[in-house]
Amino acid sequence: MFRLVVCIAVAWGVLTAVSRAMPNSESESVLEVGFSSADITPQVAPEKPVWMAGYVPGRAATGVHDPLFARCAVMRSGSRKIALVSLDLIGLQYPAVLKIRNALSGFDYVMVCSTHNHEGPDVIGVWGKSVFQRGVDEAYLKSVIDKVVELVHVADGRLTRVVADFGTAEDSSLLNDSREPFVKDGVLRVLRFTSWDGGRPTGLVVQWNCHPEALGSRNTLITADYPAATVDELSRRYSCPVVLVVGAIGGLLAPPSDRIADDSGKMLGSGDFEFARRYGIAVADLADKAIAASRRIELTPFAIAARPVVIQVENPWYRAARVFGVIRRQGRVWTGDSEQLGDPVTAENAEQPTGVETEVGCLKLGSLRIAAIPGELYPELVSGKVPDPAEAGADFPEAPREESVEQLMGEGPWMLVGLANDEVGYLIPKRQWDNLPPYAYGRSTAPYGEINSCGPAAAPTVMRALARRLSELPK
Ligand SMILES: [Zn+2]
Repeated sequence: MFRLVVCIAVAWGVLTAVSRAMPNSESESVLEVGFSSADITPQVAPEKPVWMAGYVPGRAATGVHDPLFARCAVMRSGSRKIALVSLDLIGLQYPAVLKIRNALSGFDYVMVCSTHNHEGPDVIGVWGKSVFQRGVDEAYLKSVIDKVVELVHVADGRLTRVVADFGTAEDSSLLNDSREPFVKDGVLRVLRFTSWDGGRPTGLVVQWNCHPEALGSRNTLITADYPAATVDELSRRYSCPVVLVVGAIGGLLAPPSDRIADDSGKMLGSGDFEFARRYGIAVADLADKAIAASRRIELTPFAIAARPVVIQVENPWYRAARVFGVIRRQGRVWTGDSEQLGDPVTAENAEQPTGVETEVGCLKLGSLRIAAIPGELYPELVSGKVPDPAEAGADFPEAPREESVEQLMGEGPWMLVGLANDEVGYLIPKRQWDNLPPYAYGRSTAPYGEINSCGPAAAPTVMRALARRLSELPK
């Protein structure tokens, strides 16, 4: 017998419900899934600019190359039901995810992640006309929330009984790491669902660990970047829907410029739709290998551990963005404990240390664990390859190395969903934090990364929370 422990945040981080249920063994062992997708492409019109997210502010879209999608898989085991949604967006924020959850009933967990698309609309705020102007179209954001709610209902209505296979394949040459130490998670992980009675394809959930940055900063056409090609290709090859999620993409992991060639053998690189297409197909080819190597996996019963945490925001740019109203999400006064939510930030207490409320979770579906990480995890925190001793010049050489995902997961299969339920920026191993001179690796200037991170406490907070959530799951 086992015990199911469920910790689900049920409202804006304040209430946490813990339920324990004994399973009805027969129905709990039956796995059902349903898939759905919806077009979330913003309307591009000259009179109403769509500010594109990623890179620098002030990039107005001039048209649409290919549509953006929300894609959903709902899974049910007995009375337990969870939804996984992936969006072709830069990073849907936690407050929007909570609105989606509040509009859905009957689900034990709803995970809404983003592919971190750099060629879609701003849904965070910092890419408006200027650094002082919010780039989010609130009506568009509301339409995404409404469409995701509808999408989950549609997938829920399509539940069919399935069996699942899990497989992995590795190709680190499909990733470029632009920051030392050069550490990548080159493993693609895939879940394949087929009908239990006849092996008909039902759907795929694919995790790949790369920024959607094949188009680069000069493109002004809305596109889902390489994930569009990966999803299209796999949908065609396997005749089923596909949900693509990104894993540990911090660092930063992007498509390489020396790996993808056209038919004449000429190397393709950033800023080219043919590069995005061919790179996406190369990722689909890697998924083929993972599927070929896959083995049957038991995904029932379901257990869920998820809880709000507060990450201290020390980044002066993030704090200024909130003051200017560019980022509009409620801050919390920092209590000194990431799992104790402080008072909401107001004009009176804004000078105190503050934090942002987010969520770290972990699912246990049968023998598979799925970590839900609310930002861009450095791959060093997956493998544990954080320099030891610290590089000379790093700001916190004595910081303990965070326990890595591999250490925490131990034996058994796992997946990692980055930008899950939020995008709080880079999660940098504290020992690699490098904001002050002298800089590590002989750099003359600060490395890129810290400017898009809440602060040096972000990664330790998230990794500690992941360890706690894992310890709350049944063995
Ligand atoms: Zn990024």
